[in-house]
Amino acid sequence: MAKSPRDIVREDVQALAPYHVPDSAGLVKLDAMENPYALPTDMQAEVGRLAARAPLNRYPDPGASALRERLKQAMQVPAGMEILLGNGSDELIQLLALATNRPGAVLLSVEPSFVLYRMVATFVGMRYVGVPLDERFGLDAQALDAAIDAQRPALVFLAYPNNPTGNLFDAQIIRRVVERAPGLVVVDEAYHAFAGRSFLPELARYPNLLVMRTLSKLGLAGLRLGMLIGSPDWLVEVDKLRLPYNVNVLTQQVAHYVLGRAEVLSEQAASIRLERERLAALLTGCAGVVAYPSDANFILFRVRQAAAVFAGLKARGVLVKKLDGSHPRLVDCLRVTVGTREENERFLTALRQTLPQAA
Ligand code: PMP
Repeated sequence: MAKSPRDIVREDVQALAPYHVPDSAGLVKLDAMENPYALPTDMQAEVGRLAARAPLNRYPDPGASALRERLKQAMQVPAGMEILLGNGSDELIQLLALATNRPGAVLLSVEPSFVLYRMVATFVGMRYVGVPLDERFGLDAQALDAAIDAQRPALVFLAYPNNPTGNLFDAQIIRRVVERAPGLVVVDEAYHAFAGRSFLPELARYPNLLVMRTLSKLGLAGLRLGMLIGSPDWLVEVDKLRLPYNVNVLTQQVAHYVLGRAEVLSEQAASIRLERERLAALLTGCAGVVAYPSDANFILFRVRQAAAVFAGLKARGVLVKKLDGSHPRLVDCLRVTVGTREENERFLTALRQTLPQAA
């Protein structure tokens, strides 16, 4: 009698490790690229009023049309292009993989990059190819050419700036990938607010290009809203796989309201960029630390004995992300999200106390 999960659940699913989110209670939380600032109190009050009046007994607008119109204005989406919304961009990554996963299809990305690209390939049973980045975490044009020609990927993800390395790839090499790839290329601009460079203006030029954004890093991670932008020809197909009502009533209303005052989020992003430069300089000044250049709201850095440094930081109340052990190129690497000035000071103090002991 085959009634246990072991007999019924897909073997590749049984072999997966669950996506681990560490408990951050009581810690300075610098592990997940969140914006550290709350909304101003007048905006918080209005969000409260909106939530109180929201028709929670009704299903949300399935197409979220008012929100999509506002997003088009806020992001200056080029004429003729459309937006598909996801429950975070994570969901959009999965929808894209589901849509392109013909028998034998390949999902290609670079390594190290956002781990969800590979995870989603596994979830949907798609073949994954990870092309190594060069020694400075840049795109390796020759390796990409060779992989594209050999693997003929249906779907390519390039994070711009890249997570967890923080750098912006060479835009010319991205264009070369878009031109050479036989399928869809998605430029994932999750960290756009901290970089200011974008492929949105190039959508009209490349029929196989889509751009992905999210509100998560901008200060609304709790709402879960991701955006896929591009030609309606692609989006209508992907949209067929979206579960109805994936963007809930509260998310639609609150995002619509906050985007009406988008300058508040842009000002917060500008403070984070300034604070990033200060933090990068101070990190570089710590003996035994190599900090990598970042165009995002986090900094990748290398220490001796990362596991001990991670534990030392945690013991002192600061949670960062331990990348050591996740990929051969990330040995002894940690990633810190840029927090408020006070949070960053607490992190630096804890790091200075931890480093000599760990070394
Ligand atoms: N893309 C990249 C490159 C990311 O780093 C992340 C978040 N870690 C996401 C997409 C997902 O963002 P969300 O689902 O919160 O929109």
